Amino acid sequence: MSLSKFAQLKLFITGPTYIRDDVKAAAMLPEFGHRDSENELRFGPIRQHLRTLAGCGDDYEPILVLGSGSSAMEASIRSLVADDETLLNVSVGAFGDHYQTIAVANGKQSTNLKFEYGQPINLNVLEQKLKDLRPDVVSFTHNETSTGVTNDMKAVCALIRQYDAMPLVDGVSIFGGADLDLSNSGAAMYVTATQKSLALPAGFGIGFVSREAEEKAARVTNKGHAHDITRQLVCARKNQTLTTPNGTLANQMAVQLDRIVNEEGVENRFARHIQMRGMVEEWVAGLDGFDMFVPEGYRSVTMSTVICPEGVTQAQLKGGVKEALREEGYLMDPGYGKLNVQLEKEGKRQIIRIGHMGDITPDMLTEYLAALEVELKKL
Ligand SMILES: *Cc1c(COP(=O)(O)O)cnc(C)c1O
Repeated sequence: MSLSKFAQLKLFITGPTYIRDDVKAAAMLPEFGHRDSENELRFGPIRQHLRTLAGCGDDYEPILVLGSGSSAMEASIRSLVADDETLLNVSVGAFGDHYQTIAVANGKQSTNLKFEYGQPINLNVLEQKLKDLRPDVVSFTHNETSTGVTNDMKAVCALIRQYDAMPLVDGVSIFGGADLDLSNSGAAMYVTATQKSLALPAGFGIGFVSREAEEKAARVTNKGHAHDITRQLVCARKNQTLTTPNGTLANQMAVQLDRIVNEEGVENRFARHIQMRGMVEEWVAGLDGFDMFVPEGYRSVTMSTVICPEGVTQAQLKGGVKEALREEGYLMDPGYGKLNVQLEKEGKRQIIRIGHMGDITPDMLTEYLAALEVELKKL
């Protein structure tokens, strides 16, 4: 087949995201045996760097689950919600609903508390629900990728703990782009993935398992095999994975995490993400008819959502703007489909998303915003 059919696009979508050339090149590093001493050379530093990025020590054990973010989410549900317990899932968008879907698909008794698109978790409403339901476990999304909302993880976890429930957090689209201070977050288990703010190909779900979660998982039955964090932890402590890892991704991950921690520096990385959010805010402020979708204080640092002027349609965004930008070498995100369809039906303005996560630089974002602006002004 002709490989030249594949376009070289810079991904400004909300995951997967742009991968640097040196990280792509790391895919050429040697294959290795996952029960051999060579494995340790990859996964020893990988697990150490994951802790540095998360802001934790040995209070959390990082596990790498074959699959993607959803696999780690499923592991948290399977291992930490017993069959006779109840889960309250708190959703501020499509990925919050995804956690609920995973819980129900695994036969768990789960209630979905939903908030309006674009809004964060309302703590008063959540508190009332916690009083009414007294759930054993509560799951929620740290960074809602469908809407660009970042919930206040510490405040939400603290409230959940007041009602003696165990918080599970989906941080798939923010891990690696923001300071989590995981040790002080209150999360019992925090899950993420490789293909968003870590700027790697997809392939591992990543879980950070607290001691408390580990103890609970030991008592939960019917956890399956791959989703059993008790089994995962036995291997993780040896810097191994439960099943054969994706060795290509492991090589890339070892190189990428070393670069992030020892070259870029995590503080610089987090600051760069904050800077890029500010760039989008400033860009929107200078554009007639455009507005930020999320209230200040809850805007994501890894992606932004922007409300388009009255009259802009889904068809224009998905057809015209996206395809014009493809010609210029960019993959544009015309917004979360289901949300925009609903907004269009209600006669409301459309929302586009701008991914600025992982290794996208302020210079790349400047170029992209300029190209995007040209196309948007044609509407
Ligand atoms: C992308 C994403 C997921 C799903 O992750 P996969 O790696 O595609 O399984 C879950 N939650 C959030 C917040 C996401 O952004």
